[in-house]
Amino acid sequence: MELTTAILVTAAIFGALVGSFLNVVILRLPQEGASVVFPASHCPQCKTPLHWYDNIPILSYLMLKGKCRSCKAGISLQYPIVEAAMALLSYFLMAHFGFSVSFFGYFIFVAALLAIIVIDLYHQIIPDVISLPGIVAGFLFPLSILTLAGLIHLLESLPEEAFSME
Ligand SMILES: [Zn+2]
Repeated sequence: MELTTAILVTAAIFGALVGSFLNVVILRLPQEGASVVFPASHCPQCKTPLHWYDNIPILSYLMLKGKCRSCKAGISLQYPIVEAAMALLSYFLMAHFGFSVSFFGYFIFVAALLAIIVIDLYHQIIPDVISLPGIVAGFLFPLSILTLAGLIHLLESLPEEAFSME
């Protein structure tokens, strides 16, 4: 299949949408008993449910200038960063693998790792933010780089057949 710009752009949009879902997973997964499906997305400050047009990956954050439409509380940069990261990763995976089973295999792999990395960062940084921020950040930053380097190395070393149907 020829890789047209349309396919690559579709892959990026698909990535951004999955990134948007990942943000919900990252937020709710560590909370015991919380569902990733219900309730619908809402502002964590004022609990106002989001309109669909306030929930468009990356674009809504830019249009709202990073603030809730109702209460003007700041929206975490995590949202546009995770959405943009998934859009880019999806774009490059499509450019590399084309529309194939390999693409979806690696896509799921990368999405899961991204969610794990962000959850990991939160749960180690937040409790220590008051006491030892410098030391914790000093350890976590190289660790997150190492995790990324390991991921890239793993992606390069995996044979392309790893996710093929045969
Ligand atoms: Zn609000």
